[in-house]
Amino acid sequence: MRSVRIAEREIDRVTVLGYGRTGRAVVAYLHNHGVKIFVSDSALLTDADRESLKKLGIAFEEGGHTFQAIEDPDLIVLSPGISPEIPILREAQLRSIQGISELDLAYLLTRGASIIAVTGTNGKSTTVKLIEGILLQRGIQAIAAGNIGLPFITLADEPPDVVVLEVSSFQLEQSSIFHAHVSCLLNIAPDHLDRHGSMDNYVAAKLSIFDRQVDDGLAIVSRDIPLSKASIAGWSVYFEDVRLPKNAFADSLSPHNRSNLRAAIACCRGIIPILKPDAIDLPALEGAFHLPYRMQGEPSLGGVRVINDSKSTNAASAITALESIEGPCVLILGGRHKGAGYDALARVIARRDVRHVILFGEGASRLQSSLRDVGYAHTGLCSTLDQALTLALQEAREGDTILFSPACSSYDQYRNYVERGEHFSRLVRSSLGQESSN
Ligand code: ADP
Repeated sequence: MRSVRIAEREIDRVTVLGYGRTGRAVVAYLHNHGVKIFVSDSALLTDADRESLKKLGIAFEEGGHTFQAIEDPDLIVLSPGISPEIPILREAQLRSIQGISELDLAYLLTRGASIIAVTGTNGKSTTVKLIEGILLQRGIQAIAAGNIGLPFITLADEPPDVVVLEVSSFQLEQSSIFHAHVSCLLNIAPDHLDRHGSMDNYVAAKLSIFDRQVDDGLAIVSRDIPLSKASIAGWSVYFEDVRLPKNAFADSLSPHNRSNLRAAIACCRGIIPILKPDAIDLPALEGAFHLPYRMQGEPSLGGVRVINDSKSTNAASAITALESIEGPCVLILGGRHKGAGYDALARVIARRDVRHVILFGEGASRLQSSLRDVGYAHTGLCSTLDQALTLALQEAREGDTILFSPACSSYDQYRNYVERGEHFSRLVRSSLGQESSN
């Protein structure tokens, strides 16, 4: 085979924009199907990526998208990080070269699977893993994919019975074909305004998960989101109406995880209408409720509890984290600012028992001025996470909690939230080592 058939067209030359995790998966899929590929990335590639592309005989450019990227492709595939507004895509449009998101492409190539799609500002990964876990318990072959880590296109040739997709606003903004059998919107709070330009655009991207929903589709929505159910085709339910199992495990869940579980059960009912909450083995889903770097407990330091919530990359998730903590805490915030404000977070900090806020990284002074505006002055400013933990330990007293829930992205100093979370874990462990050697 030398081409792929997409929407009635034979495609044999493709440019892939972006060579991160998704771009690499698109390249692997298309290469396996004999398509001629050109890769274009605005950043520099790693040595390993360069080597593997050379080995596969795939031409590429790095450090910017040039006209080479639009010389002769039948199609341009966009990785999620690529804004549809970039100049090379406008130029491609003028030349009548079609661009398609990986989400749309994978959707067109995947046949036979039911799709559950979950979006929202926070709770996507947790909910997607819960859905996958509940369906697997029922003997249904389900795989969590998409923004959670496994690109959708990886499943295109041999899809499971149900693809449980985490979908980001970036992917939705780029897509105009994709739709799911069950679509869920968990919540919306300001985030990613640097990419979307305004809150209205961000909300529109999130709501577009319900565009093209078919008449027998199921929409799972939240009562907290002002949205007319009448505007959505097919069935729609509020996940807040789902009854949770009555047992000690369910009672012990934090409010946000109870909310994620409700949404997950509502989604699963799109596949198993008679699913009874009490029949779910919740303890077996423990791992989904506690994914790495989401409110993860670290070893205590000198009687101070330490929590690593590196995945908290916006103000709303930091508020959730703060509201789930009992007793006094020292909060560590900072990283790259993404365009949304921190006023709501500052008000919660001022109201709760927050002994001190340590601010680090690019967003530190912006966060500090939001705190000043609400009259909160117990702040410490520093550059790096190691300095932040040292300062936090100086401020914390026995019985306090140090909460690392940064409210910003990690990209100012790390490759992603995982690297940042690992670094924080290492710093805590090395402080513990120093403590025990004293
Ligand atoms: P996402 O995939 O949307 O980033 P995660 O499940 O990975 O969501 O959780 C990201 C962060 O948001 C974590 O800090 C977590 O504690 C917090 N969080 C999880 N679920 C919710 C929710 N329903 N509402 C608000 N915050 C949440």
